[in-house]
Amino acid sequence: MDKKDFMRRAIALSEESVRMGGGPFGAVIVKDGEIVSEASNSVTLDHDPTAHAEVNAIRKATQKLDTFDLEGCEIYTSCEPCPMCLGAIYWAHLDRIYYANDRKDAARIGFDDDFIYKEIALKPQERHKQMEVLLSEEAKEAFQMWEADGDKAEY
Ligand SMILES: [Zn+2]
Repeated sequence: MDKKDFMRRAIALSEESVRMGGGPFGAVIVKDGEIVSEASNSVTLDHDPTAHAEVNAIRKATQKLDTFDLEGCEIYTSCEPCPMCLGAIYWAHLDRIYYANDRKDAARIGFDDDFIYKEIALKPQERHKQMEVLLSEEAKEAFQMWEADGDKAEY
């Protein structure tokens, strides 16, 4: 299978998802030319707003490979990752992202990807969601514990 085959699989998953009542998004994670995991969006089916195709595919891949680090893997997603999924892809250390539809295409059918990207670019005080710093000194304790821990599993 080549790059286009993997993307066609992600696209097929997105179409299948719509037929099953999920969102129109599919993703495939590939390692060494083999599919490790595939998933579609299940936000409405699972009542989970974080159950985007990419996050679902990452969860399946890490379970299958028994690791929290997907270095050496690539993701094929039927739509440009939203900010949450882009963050998850960075956290998972995936090597490369291939996408088909983009954030503008998603906006045209009613999804907030483009809106959230624009929010991130704003100063915190200009965003629609209010943010407030609270008890930052008390919260430092866990950070100090982490910093001092010589046996921690870093990620
Ligand atoms: Zn997403």
